[in-house]
Amino acid sequence: MKKYQKSKTLPQSVKYHIKRDHEAIIDVATWEAVQAEIERRAQYCKDHFTNAYSQKTETNPFYAKIICGNCGSTYSRVKYTTRAGTAITKWRCGSCNKANGHKICSNRYVLDETFTKLFVMSWNEMVDYQPDYQERWQENIRGDDVLLRYKTRLVMQHAAVGPIKEFDLKLMLAVMDHITVFEDGRLQIKFYDGTEFEEETE
Ligand SMILES: [Zn+2]
Repeated sequence: MKKYQKSKTLPQSVKYHIKRDHEAIIDVATWEAVQAEIERRAQYCKDHFTNAYSQKTETNPFYAKIICGNCGSTYSRVKYTTRAGTAITKWRCGSCNKANGHKICSNRYVLDETFTKLFVMSWNEMVDYQPDYQERWQENIRGDDVLLRYKTRLVMQHAAVGPIKEFDLKLMLAVMDHITVFEDGRLQIKFYDGTEFEEETE
């Protein structure tokens, strides 16, 4: 415990928690990553005009993870049933629902399964060609960005497990940053190590 108290790099709030909670066993790097993650999420919500970073994750894993390439808002989920009785889940730009000043956006609707497919495909691409990503990963790990170091290690650990056959919610939350929808049909998926994939849809 003494070692932690002597540290000059930790902010006051962190030191306080470590001194108080003698049961907590967590290394300094993880603490720093957690603080950076809290800041990142706050900035993310600000950048994309949303109040919550996640909501009902189990049933709505893509909440706040789909970003409009037009206006930067998060996409919202719309569920409905067709006359034939088919349940459909579509996503549309959330700014359509808001009256907080920014323009109503005309960006396209996207089906739920488009995102799950994109995730599975892109993730497996990265897993299958892991050697191609090593250079970036090693660079991230040696870099100054504490959060990028932490998240890159997570990506590497998950990638080492191998490809997936179907959408994996927990994996998605661990490795995917967000997906951007562009009006021309392009979808861009970004992982936490900084890797991006782009797919054209019609
Ligand atoms: Zn929009």
